[in-house]
Amino acid sequence: METRPNQKWYTLAAVEVTRMLKSDLKQGLSRDEAERRLSKSGANQLTASKRKPLYSVLLDQFKDFMVLILFVATLISYFLGEYLDAITIIAIIFINGVLGFIQEARAERSLQALKDLASPMARVLRDGQLSMLPASRLVPGDLVLLEAGDRVPADLRLFTANRLEIEESALTGESVPVSKTAQTLAAGSPDEVPLGDQKNLAFMGTMVTGGTGQGLVISTGMQTEIGKIAHLMNEAEIAETPLQIRLEQMGKILVVVAVLLTMVVIGAGVWHGHELFTMFLAGVSLAVAAIPEGLPAIVTVALALGVQRMIKRNAIVRKLPSVETLGCASVICSDKTGTLTQNKMTVTHIWHGDDTFQVTGSGYEPQGAFLLQGKQCAPERDQALARLLEIANSCNNAQLTYEEEKARRLLSMGKTVKRWQVIGDPTEGALKVLAAKGLGFDVEHGKGSKMAARVEELPFDSDRKMMSVVDKKADGSFVMQTKGAAEAVLSRCSHILWKGQVQPLSATMRHRILDQTEKMAAQALRVLAFAYKPLQGYRTGHTGEIKESDLTFVGLVGMIDPPREEVSAAINLCHQAGIKTVMITGDHRITAEAIARQIGLMRGYGEVMEGRELDRISDEELAERAERVAVYARVSPEHKLRIVRALQSNGHVVAMTGDGVNDAPAIKTADIGIAMGITGTDVTKEAADLVLRDDNFATIVSAVEEGRNIYDNIRKFIRYLLASNVGEILVMFFAMILGMPLPLVPIQILWVNLVTDGLPAMALGVDPPEADTMYQRPRNKHENIFARGLGWKIISRGFLIGLMTLLAFWLTWRENPDDLVHAQTVAFVTLVMAQLIHVFDCRSQHSVFHRNIFENKYLVWAVISSIVLVLGVVYLEALQPIFKTTNLYFRDWALILVAAGIPTFVAGMGGVLRRGALGGARRSSARTARS
Ligand code: ATP
Repeated sequence: METRPNQKWYTLAAVEVTRMLKSDLKQGLSRDEAERRLSKSGANQLTASKRKPLYSVLLDQFKDFMVLILFVATLISYFLGEYLDAITIIAIIFINGVLGFIQEARAERSLQALKDLASPMARVLRDGQLSMLPASRLVPGDLVLLEAGDRVPADLRLFTANRLEIEESALTGESVPVSKTAQTLAAGSPDEVPLGDQKNLAFMGTMVTGGTGQGLVISTGMQTEIGKIAHLMNEAEIAETPLQIRLEQMGKILVVVAVLLTMVVIGAGVWHGHELFTMFLAGVSLAVAAIPEGLPAIVTVALALGVQRMIKRNAIVRKLPSVETLGCASVICSDKTGTLTQNKMTVTHIWHGDDTFQVTGSGYEPQGAFLLQGKQCAPERDQALARLLEIANSCNNAQLTYEEEKARRLLSMGKTVKRWQVIGDPTEGALKVLAAKGLGFDVEHGKGSKMAARVEELPFDSDRKMMSVVDKKADGSFVMQTKGAAEAVLSRCSHILWKGQVQPLSATMRHRILDQTEKMAAQALRVLAFAYKPLQGYRTGHTGEIKESDLTFVGLVGMIDPPREEVSAAINLCHQAGIKTVMITGDHRITAEAIARQIGLMRGYGEVMEGRELDRISDEELAERAERVAVYARVSPEHKLRIVRALQSNGHVVAMTGDGVNDAPAIKTADIGIAMGITGTDVTKEAADLVLRDDNFATIVSAVEEGRNIYDNIRKFIRYLLASNVGEILVMFFAMILGMPLPLVPIQILWVNLVTDGLPAMALGVDPPEADTMYQRPRNKHENIFARGLGWKIISRGFLIGLMTLLAFWLTWRENPDDLVHAQTVAFVTLVMAQLIHVFDCRSQHSVFHRNIFENKYLVWAVISSIVLVLGVVYLEALQPIFKTTNLYFRDWALILVAAGIPTFVAGMGGVLRRGALGGARRSSARTARS
C-alpha cells in the first residue's frame, strides 16, 4: 500500500484511494489479505487507559490506619523481646494483605473482562461477503457499511453516501450532524481543510445519525484522527454502585465505633489490673479484626461474579450500578419483534386484487410455491404479483447467503447441505426469500441479491414506518419502489394496480385494503404494503428531494414471526415476581394483540393503546392508564420516552428495551436501559445499562433474577461479617468490664479474623438463590441495606455469639483458674465454631432450617478448611506456643459445640416459629376471605 502519514485523503478520488489501498469497491479485501494487514497494522483500538499496577494494589492493602498501628505495636513487642508474637502477627497481617490483594486483583480482572465484552462491531465486506466483525479487527483497505445508529469504527473515505449524516461532536465538539458526500473535495483546496469540512471522510468514534453509506478504511487505531487526540471511546462505565458508596460510608462509621469500643476495652482492662502493653496489643488486634476492611473488595467480587453469571445467561452489564437496580425492576417494557418473537420471519400470505395467495416453504431456503385456492400458480404470469415480488427484491438491503456443510443425518451422511442465512434486517430477509421463491432468481450466484439498478434510497425509519428506493430500469426509465406499514404506505397512495389495471384509489377500496390488513393481522401476521411510482423527469445525479406520494398500491404481504418458546414461561415468572410486562411495538395493533395473547401477556391488565391515542392524551392521563395497558402498538421511539416517564411517575422502576438510534433517549431515561446485542445500534448499546447478547426477553428476566440474587448475597455476607465482628468485640468488652482475664490473646483474635472472614464470606457471595427469590415483590429502590430485619439479626446474633463465647470461657476458667491457656483455647474455638455455624444461618432470610446445608459446596469447603486450620492451631504442638493454645478434650468439645450452636439454633427456631405463625395467620385470613 502506498500510503503516507498525513495523507490528504479527501482530495483523492475514490478510485485513486482504492488503488492506493489495494482494495476493491465491490468485493472488499480478501480475508487472507485482511489477516496479513492486521498483523502489520495491529488491532484497531485506542490504547487502553492505564491500569493501576499490581504492586500498588498490593501496597494499598497495608495502608489501612489500624494495620499501620498494629505494625508499630508489633515492632514494639519485638523490641520488648516477644519475638515469636511479633513475627506471627506480622505473618498474619501479611497473609491477610495477600488475600485482600487476590480479591481485589480478581475484581479488577473481571471488570476489565466486562469492558472488553462491550467492544463494538462493524459491518464489513470481505471476499464479496457481508459480515459483522469486531471493530478491532478492521484494517486499512477494508470496505465498511454504515447506517443510522452506528459508531464509525475507523477513519473512512466514503465512496457512497445516501443522505448520510454524521454527528462529530466526539471529535470536533460540534453537535449538529454534518451531511456527508462521496465527492472528492475540489483539487486546489487549501492545504488544511478543517476536520468538520472533510465531508467525504467519516471519522472513528463519530456517530451516524441518518442515512447509509460505504467507505474504505484509511486508518485505524491510534493513526485515526481520534487516536491522535487519544480520546477514549466506547468504554463500559465501571462506576461504583450506590450500595458500594453507602458501604464505604458505613465502613467509616464502623471504624469509629470499633476504635471507641476498643478504647473502652483497653481502659477497662488496664483499670482491672492488666498490663498496659498487653492490653494495647489486644485492643489494636481487636480493632483490626473488628473493622470489616475486606467488605468493599468482597462486594466488588460478588458483583463481578454475579455479572459473570449474567454473561453466561447472555446478559452483558455495561454499568455496574444497574446490577442493583435490576433487582428492583417492577415493570419490563419490551419490544416485540426479535425480543418476544424469534425474528425469524417467513412470508406466508400475499394479497392483491382480492386474491389471497399462500406461500409454502420453510425457513430461509428459497424453495416454495404460490398457491391460489390450493392450486399452484406461476407468479410471472400474474402482473401484480410479479410487480410485488420485484419491489420485495429491490426495496431491500438484506442478503441471502448459504454455507455448505456436511449433512448430519444418517441417510444423507457425506452429502453437502446448504444452510441458508440472511444478513441484514429479518423482515427484508423474509422478502428476499419470497422474491427468490417467486422470481426464480439465481440467488446462489448472487444475482438476486444485487442491487445493480438502485440509484437512491430513502432508508427505513420507525417514524415513517416505510422505505423507498429509486431504481433505474433496463429501458432507462426510473421508478420508485416502496414498502412499509400498511396504513403508512396506503396514506401515500393515490392509485391501485387492480386486476391488471392502474385505477384511482377510491375510499371504498382503501377501507377494503385496511379490512384485509386487519384480517391478516388477526392471524398474528406482520403485514407490509407494497407500492411504486414511475418517476418522470428524474435524471441520474438528481439532488432534489423525492417525495413518497402519489404511489400506486400493489398488494399486501403477511409474514409470521413466531413467539420465542421460552417467553411464556418468562412472562409467567415475572407475574409471580410482581413485575409487570408491557409490549411496545411499531407493529399493527391487531398483530401485536394476537401475539400478546399467545404469550400470556394480557393477563390481569389487558388494554391496548396505539401511538396516535398516546399523542392525544396528557401525561397525567397516560400515567393513570399506563397501569392497565399491556400493549402499546404502532408507536414511534419518541413515544417510548413518555411511557417510561409515565410509569416512573407512578413509582415504578422501569426496564426498557430498544434497538434503533431513536430509542436511546428512552433507554437513558429508564432505570434499566436494555439494548439488543444482535440488532441493536451502537448508539443504543452505549446508552444502555444492559445488553442482551441474544436479544431475548427471557434473558432480561434471568438478569433480574440474578440482580435479586446478587443483592441478597451481599446482604448475606454483610450480615455474617458484621455479626461476627459484633461477637468478637463483645467477648472482649464484657470480659474487661466484668474484670475477667483476657478471653483471647491478640494472635488468636487475628487468627479468628483471618479464618472466618475470608473464605466463608466469599462463599456466601456465590450462594445460590433462595427458592422464593422470584416469588417476592420487587425491592424498594430506596431500601436501606439493613432493612427487613437485617440490622436486628446482626445485633442479636452477634450478641449471642459474644455471650456464649464468654460463657464457655468463664465456665472453663472457673473450673481451673490456674490454667488460663486452656480457657482461652476454649473461648477461641467457641468463637470460631459459632461463626462457622452461624454462616449457614446467613443463607436464609427465614431460618437456617429452610435451606439445604450442602447446597453451596464452596461454603461447605470453606467451612471445612477453616475448621482444619483451627484444629491445626489447637493440636499441632509446634503451633501451640505461637498461638497460646493447648489440647482440648471431649468435655471441652461438648461445651464448645453447645455454646457455639446455641446462637444459630435459637435464631433458627425463632425463624421457624415466626414463619409458622405467619403461615397460620395467612392461612386463616385466606379462609376468612374465602368464606
Ligand atoms: P418492535 O418495535 O417490536 O421491534 P417492529 O419491528 O414492528 O416492532 P418497527 O421496526 O418500528 O417496529 O416497524 C414498524 C413497522 O414498519 C412494521 O410493523 C412494518 O410494518 C414496517 N417495517 C418494518 N421493517 C420495515 C422495513 N425494513 N421496510 C419497510 N417497512 C418496515
